[in-house]
Order: sequence, then structure tokens, then C-alpha cells
Amino acid sequence: MPPRARSAWFRTLGMLAVVLAAAVAVGVAIGYPWPVLAMAALAVVAWHYWRLRRVLLRLTARQRMPPPRGDGVWNELDRLLHRTQTEMRGRKRRLLEMLRAYRAAAAALPDAIVVADRDTQRIVWFSEAAGPLLGLGYPEDIGAPLVARLQPLPLAGWMAAGQHAEPLEVASPLNPGATLSLRLIPYSESLWLLVARDVSRLLQLEQMRRDFVANVSHELRTPLTVVHGYLDMLDPADHPEWAPIVAEMQRQSQRMTQLVEDLLTLSRLESQDSLPVEEPVAVAPMLGTLRREAAALSQGRHEVSIEDEAEVDLFGSNKELHSAFSNLVSNAVRYTPAGGTIKVRFRREGRGVALEVIDSGYGIPASHLPRVTERFYRVSNSRSRESGGTGLGLAIVKHVLNLHQGRLEVSSEVGHGSTFACVFGAERVIERETSEVPT
Ligand code: ADP
Repeated sequence: MPPRARSAWFRTLGMLAVVLAAAVAVGVAIGYPWPVLAMAALAVVAWHYWRLRRVLLRLTARQRMPPPRGDGVWNELDRLLHRTQTEMRGRKRRLLEMLRAYRAAAAALPDAIVVADRDTQRIVWFSEAAGPLLGLGYPEDIGAPLVARLQPLPLAGWMAAGQHAEPLEVASPLNPGATLSLRLIPYSESLWLLVARDVSRLLQLEQMRRDFVANVSHELRTPLTVVHGYLDMLDPADHPEWAPIVAEMQRQSQRMTQLVEDLLTLSRLESQDSLPVEEPVAVAPMLGTLRREAAALSQGRHEVSIEDEAEVDLFGSNKELHSAFSNLVSNAVRYTPAGGTIKVRFRREGRGVALEVIDSGYGIPASHLPRVTERFYRVSNSRSRESGGTGLGLAIVKHVLNLHQGRLEVSSEVGHGSTFACVFGAERVIERETSEVPT
């Protein structure tokens, strides 16, 4: 017991003893000790009841009551209650202020935030931006069913599938020209957070960037063809002293042409959401072509082999798939020193298939692996330039695979070689009617 409470306790006991002793003394003096003692005891009990009532009053009071004065056990109890109440009130006020600040912050966000109940899928709360972005109004939309209220948006399937990891991009229900990016975040056992952001400006900038690259590449094509054509017409025999300069100019103009062609290919792939033409792609002849391309690039410096284990065909774009695979083969040749091996293997992977290009080349350090498919990303600038790469090959491969709902898996060990696997799902596999042997 704290010292203050202990002294209050003893003081009350002392008072009781004094009252009872006084009652006994008075009782003895007037000749009625027991009745006087009983009356005094009753008075003490009554006084305690009265103090108990005051404590009850404090506990049930709505308004603030002044702190008790005096000492004794009841005053001490009253004082402790008063202190606890004051502390609780302070805590409540601070929590309310915090809550208000959070709500004000959420309301001030430019993104629309809607809190919905997970079970009933009804709207619990929304920020101010939900008005202009989603058309929600206060108070009529509090408690409204979320999916029905945001009707033109295809939310039902998206929410039911629980596909909240990936944002959903949809036309705004209020302004079809604007695009919203929706995110669903399950943030507690019972609540969902729907965040809607206007990404129109971002998409516009992205489109501007794409158009710019496509236009510049297109505009560069004609002058480059002219330069290339004239360089080809120059005969080194006329001016033997210029021969090395002309050869270098031809090499560089060839590289620039390749760069422009790759940029145009990438722009074309980026602007497509799906493949314009899908057809059965015979893999056996394609493997044969890849072998010939690898042999031509390698010029006998590497051992090239082909393994057609899967013996199935693919469904997609022949041209794009060939461009992707030949980019991988060309990389394997360029990043494998003479004497190395290059293997192209077509094998089953689960219910789908994978086309692997395996080399025994320089390899890629693990820290670079996540970024190798970015445009112009190079593990070693000097080696890439030497090898005549444009820095766009793997970006093209990634886009082609995306258009085929496939993925690129890269594994590599520095000094031992790399494996680039193009993995396709079962929906891209067609059984071959006759088993062809690649030539
Ligand atoms: P580049 O035209 O420079 O080859 P890519 O997009 O094809 O551009 O490849 C990006 C980078 O990844 C290359 O610069 C190279 O450093 C690395 N790389 C790609 N393929 C291989 C490979 N088979 N072995 C080692 N490094 C590779």
C-alpha cells in the first residue's frame, strides 16, 4: 500500500476507535453504555454509507467533479478515483485528437480511399477525393453496397477473386477519358481499403515517351539507310589508306541501323496488348534455323547443339518468337568465349514447355540478374559494345514472352555460364502431329 493510503487507513481506524471510546465513556457517565455505543456504531455506519454514495456519484457523474479535500480512507479512495478519471479523460482526448488528425490526413490525400466491410462489402467510410474520383456522396453512400454503388467498374470479379496484389486499371466512372488505378488492401480482419488513384497523367506521359521513341527511331531510319547505302558504294581499293576508316564507319552505321530497328521493334511490341496474329508455330524447323544462326554468328568458335525433348509445337507469333529466341542465341554466342558450348534445349516444364539457351560463357553476377531485361542495361559496357549489342535484346525477349503470357527465367554463374529459359503455359502448347527431326 502506498504510504499516503496507509496513513489514511490508520487515521480512519484511529477515528473509529476514538468515536467508540468516546461513546463508551459518555455511556458509562450517563449509565447507558450499550445503547450509546450502539448509537455511535450506527452513526459510524451511516457516515460510511454516505461516503460510499459520494464515491458512487463520482463514478456515475457525467460532468467533471471537483477533487476531494481532507484525509481519511474515503477521501483517499475518492482522490484515487478522481486521478484515474482525469488521466483517462486526458488519454481519451489525445486519442480523439490523433484519430481526427489521421482522418484529416486521409481525407486530404489526393487518392480516393474507401473503407468497406469485408463480409457485407458495404461502404464504412470514404475520403473527400472519393467524391470527384468515384462519385460517392456523404452521407447517402455510407452503408451502400460497394460493388453495386461503383457499378460501371468491374469490381465484382476482381474482389471475389481476391486479386488485390495487382492494381486494376479502369476508365473512371465519372469521366471515361480518365483512367483510375484501383488497389484493394485487406487491412484488418473485417475491413478492406479500396484506394483509387487518377493515373491519366502518368499514362499520358508514358504514351508521350513511347511516341517520342517511335517517332525518333522512324525519322532516323531514312537518313541512316542513305548513309549506309553510300558507305557500301565506297570501294576501299580506290583509296587504300581510307580502308580502315570506311570499314569502321560501315560497322558503326550497321550498329546504328540495328539500334533503330530494335527500338522500332520494342515500340511496336509495347503498343500491343495482345498478339495481332496467333498461329501454330512449328518448333522443329525454328530450332534448325536457330542452329544455323548460331553457327553463322559463332563461325566455328563454339560447339552448338540442339535438343528437342518436348516434341510439341507452340501457339503464338512465329515472327516474334523467332526474334526472341534468336536474341538469346545471339547473346549466348557473343558472351561466350571461343571454345565454349551453346545448347538450345526445348523441354517440358510442368504442363507447359520451356525453351532454354544454355551457354558456358562469362556469366552474370547475381546482383545484375534482376535488371538485365531493362532497356540499355548492361552488365559490362565495354564487353557489350565490343560484342556489338544494342542493349535492347532482352527487353524485346521479355515483351515477346509477355505477349505470349510466358516468362523469362535467368540463372547464371560467373565464369561458368548462363541459362535463359522462355517458359510457356499449357495453353501455348500444341501436340505435334508428326515428330520432325530438326535439321
Ligand atoms: P546487349 O545488346 O548489350 O547484349 P541485351 O539486352 O541482349 O543487350 O542483354 C543485356 C545485358 O545482359 C548484356 O549487356 C550482357 O551484359 C548481359 N547478358 C545477356 N545475355 C548474356 C549471356 N548469355 N551471358 C552473359 N551476359 C549476358
